[in-house]
Amino acid sequence: MSLLHVDIASAGYGPVTVLHDIAFEVKTSGRLVALGANGAGKTTVLRTISGLTQAQGSITLDGVELVGLTPHRIAAAGVSHVPQGRGTFGDLTVKENLLIGGNRRPWRTVLAEADAWMERFPRLGERSSRPASGLSGGEQQLLAIARALMAAPRLLLLDEPSLGLAPKITTDLFATLDELGRESDTAMLLVEQNAQVALGIAEDALVIESGRITVRGPAADLRDNDDVRRAYLGV
Ligand code: ATP
Repeated sequence: MSLLHVDIASAGYGPVTVLHDIAFEVKTSGRLVALGANGAGKTTVLRTISGLTQAQGSITLDGVELVGLTPHRIAAAGVSHVPQGRGTFGDLTVKENLLIGGNRRPWRTVLAEADAWMERFPRLGERSSRPASGLSGGEQQLLAIARALMAAPRLLLLDEPSLGLAPKITTDLFATLDELGRESDTAMLLVEQNAQVALGIAEDALVIESGRITVRGPAADLRDNDDVRRAYLGV
């Protein structure tokens, strides 16, 4: 069963068309990674799903058409987006960031879940009443992910969570993502340049080059694909 069906002829910014004939699906509770070089269009794919970019075509989440809806309505339909590098509000405290993430849900649930996140990740708990800007890069990324999950989304969109993080921090963050994915029904669509870690936690994968999908298949097959290995795995 697929949760998300993307079938867009084109998408872009005003007169600039960035994506061409992009079609793929994300399974219910599945994990798909989109790989690609800088500027290939990965961010634009996520922005198009979230309604931040104009698109011609259809994107459905559980049968509900998202193209034409406002970003607010798309979020309410069950899509949470962690944008590249700025998924937290730096001036707000760690706890406030978590509470904001759950704003559409019953207050008691939101408070309890925020506490649960801070217990599970003590670094967040210790800094609950401090501005999020004081967290390290990896901690901020974790907070951004926790904030997005506070909305209890059907689909989590993650834009290069590894950006700017040291290799060890990236490995830890992806292990946490893997764990969180296994514990919840939330499907993930992850865009990454770090193919090594991303393919490790995904079931399915695709490669985007110049706004088009050029390779797709199970993540394990892409790891064995010579072109992918040369271009994205540095071997
Ligand atoms: P990166 O890893 O650098 O974020 P990406 O694969 O996510 O790369 P996009 O950010 O989706 O790529 O950009 C794809 C193309 O769209 C690029 O050529 C970029 O210059 C162009 N683009 C991105 N944002 C805009 C915008 N607001 N207006 C016009 N063109 C844009």
